[in-house]
Amino acid sequence: MDRAVLIRYHEIALKGENRRAFEERLAINIRKILTRATGIQVKTQREHGRILVETDWNETSREALSRVFGITNFSPMRRVPSIMTELRSAVIEETQAYIQKYGTPASFRIFTRRTEKILGESSMQIDREMGAIVCEKFPELKVDLENPVLTIGLEIRKDTSFVWTNKMLGPQGLPVGSNGNVLALLSGGIDSPVAAIEALKRGARVSYVHFYGTPFVGQEALEKVEDLVRLINRYQPDPQPLYVVPFGKIQEQVALATDKRVRTIIYRRLMIRIAEALAPKLRAQALITGESIGQVASQTIENMATINSAATIPVLRPLVTHDKDEIIAKAKRLGTFTTSIRPAADCCTLFADRHPAIRAQLERIHEEEARLPMNELIERAISGIEIKRV
Ligand code: ATP
Ligand code: MG
Repeated sequence: MDRAVLIRYHEIALKGENRRAFEERLAINIRKILTRATGIQVKTQREHGRILVETDWNETSREALSRVFGITNFSPMRRVPSIMTELRSAVIEETQAYIQKYGTPASFRIFTRRTEKILGESSMQIDREMGAIVCEKFPELKVDLENPVLTIGLEIRKDTSFVWTNKMLGPQGLPVGSNGNVLALLSGGIDSPVAAIEALKRGARVSYVHFYGTPFVGQEALEKVEDLVRLINRYQPDPQPLYVVPFGKIQEQVALATDKRVRTIIYRRLMIRIAEALAPKLRAQALITGESIGQVASQTIENMATINSAATIPVLRPLVTHDKDEIIAKAKRLGTFTTSIRPAADCCTLFADRHPAIRAQLERIHEEEARLPMNELIERAISGIEIKRV
C-alpha cells in the first residue's frame, strides 16, 4: 500500500528501555483501538521515531486515532521512493488533491525533515526547490513560512520517503497500560466519566465500580452507567468490566441509624472502603473520583479529608481544580456529556439531606459510624457485587 497514516509522539522525554516499552505499548493500543473501530485487522510498523499505520483514511479511522492516548499528532501520507523526480511529482499530485478537496489555500510552505543526509545539501535546500516547483505549477499559491494554511510535509528517509499535506492533533498523554491500574468510582453524573478518561490519559488502565441504589432506583440508572462504561472503554485497548455494588439497602440502613447532616459523607466513606476492598482483585493501585473542590456543599476540603481518611490507598481526583464549565466542555469533547445528562435517579440523593454538613469533623463521623455494623455492611456489599462486561 502506498498510503498509510504517520503517527508522531514525543520522543524527547523517553530514553532507552522506557522508549522501547512506550513505542511497543502505543503500537499495540493503536492496533487494538483501530481494529475495534473499523472492524478490520490493522497492522503497524515502527520506523525511526514514528509509527506507521496501515489503514484506510476515513472519518472512522481519524476518529479512532483521536482516542489513542500517547499520540501527539498524525498525518495521512503517501509513501514515495526517495528519488527527486518521484518526490517532485508526488508533491504536485498531493497539492492538487488538497486543492480539489479543500479549495485553494491562501498560503503554503514546504517542510522537509531528513533522517538521512541525501538528495541535497540541506533540508532547506529541498524546501526551496520543492517550493519553486509548487509556485510554478500553481501560481495562485503564495509562500508563507510563518503561518501557512497548507503545509506540505516531506520526510526524507533512506529508501522510501513520506509526503503529507494534513496534520491532525492527537489526544496527547501516555499510552494506556504504561502506568498501572486504577479503579474509577463511576456515578451516572458528568464528572466521574471525565475523571476516568483523565486517568486513562496518564497511561493508567481503568476498571469501574458503581454503587447502585437498587431497589430504590430503577434499571435506567444502571443502564446509563453501562452506557458510560461503553463510551469510556473506547479510549482503552482492552475494555474493562463494571463492578456493580447493590447499595440501596445499605443506604437505607445507614439512614435509619445516623444523623442526616453527615449521611452523605458516611455513604462516601463506605464507597471508598468497598472500592478499596475490591481493588487488590483488580490489581488497582488507586481509586479515581470526579470530585472537585467546592463544587457542591459536600465537596469542601474538610469533607474530602474526612472521606480520604477512610482510605489506605491513594484516592486520586483528576478534576480537583476544574470549574464545572471546564468539566462540561471536556465531557462534550470526549463524547460522554449527552449520556451523562440523561435523566435517571442517583443513589447519592437517596436518604440524603438537602443541606449536608460543610465541615464534618472526623470525631463526629466516627461516633455516627460506631452505631453501624460497618464491617458487616462492607462484606454484604462485596458479596453482592455483580460484574458487567459491556
Ligand atoms: P458526578 O458528576 O461524577 O456524579 P458529582 O458532582 O455529582 O459527581 P458527588 O455526587 O458528590 O459529585 O460525587 C462525587 C464522586 O463520588 C463522583 O464523581 C464519583 O466518583 C463518586 N460517586 C458518587 N456517587 C457514586 C455512585 N453511585 N457510584 C460510584 N461512584 C459514585
Ligand atoms: Mg453525581
